[in-house]
Amino acid sequence: MRACPKCKTNEYNNRSFVLMINECGHSLCKNCVENLFVRNSGPCPTCGRTLKKNDFWRQMFDDPLIEKENHFRKKLRQVYNLREDDFPSLREYNDYLERFEQLVWNLANDENVEETQLEVKRFASERLDVIERNRKRLGPDEIWVQSCLDDERRFRERLTMDIESQELTNASGPGAKGADARAIIEELKTSDLPAEVILDRQRKRQIEANLLEKEQEAKRKKTRVHDKKHQEVTTFGPLRKSGQPFVYHPVDLVLNGPALPEMFDLEACGYLRHMRPSTTAQVAGGFPTETGCYRALVESRSDLLVF
Ligand SMILES: [Zn+2]
Ligand SMILES: [Zn+2]
Repeated sequence: MRACPKCKTNEYNNRSFVLMINECGHSLCKNCVENLFVRNSGPCPTCGRTLKKNDFWRQMFDDPLIEKENHFRKKLRQVYNLREDDFPSLREYNDYLERFEQLVWNLANDENVEETQLEVKRFASERLDVIERNRKRLGPDEIWVQSCLDDERRFRERLTMDIESQELTNASGPGAKGADARAIIEELKTSDLPAEVILDRQRKRQIEANLLEKEQEAKRKKTRVHDKKHQEVTTFGPLRKSGQPFVYHPVDLVLNGPALPEMFDLEACGYLRHMRPSTTAQVAGGFPTETGCYRALVESRSDLLVF
């Protein structure tokens, strides 16, 4: 169970219990961190190492060592970000990876901490250019994510284009507004009638066409409802119209293996030949030789055939 070593609160007696941890690997609850590190830095109550309040992070793993290792691994990754193609051979790359693991282990287990930190500093200054370049470069995972995002964007663009072209073809189809407008303009150009009359006539035609369409739509709906009703009625008919009636035959599954001999047949079958005979007291207590033999037989099969 997670508990704060300082104030002894835990997840059960405090609902808002949050455990924090710092580089030294000693946990503290959030309240204790707030109280002990009011001035932003102070000694760890367990080991006395000077810690900063801002360096505390939320402890996710129960084992503080894993938290510590994770922390240092992330920290070192900032500097140790070299790739395989930064090395002349695979062998040297593998050596580099192994060295990295060793450094993480050293820091997490407090072994040769000063030397390790010096080595990291030296590495950072020696390889400054490569490290800076790799920070800006995308890793193989990031490249993959980027390509997935690009694919998705292209797919969306194509879809929008398809929809737009579909809408365009629909709009220019027969009976559409565009065609109506063109017809009116044509009539205005050629006819001798005043413009208002032509427009009124056009409006009338439009209203009539709308009414007709509505009527037809209502009719279609009616027939659809009627069809549906008809279908529902027919589903109540007999499901099987012809053929032999179904007869159920129970399936005989042989799952338990061959039957055991009866308790009274054990002697006749020779099972008791290898059994230690029960003493008189045991028989008087209700345990004849057959009982033990029968139990042994049942147990010998229980793991094989009974699931
Ligand atoms: Zn506490
Ligand atoms: Zn500590």
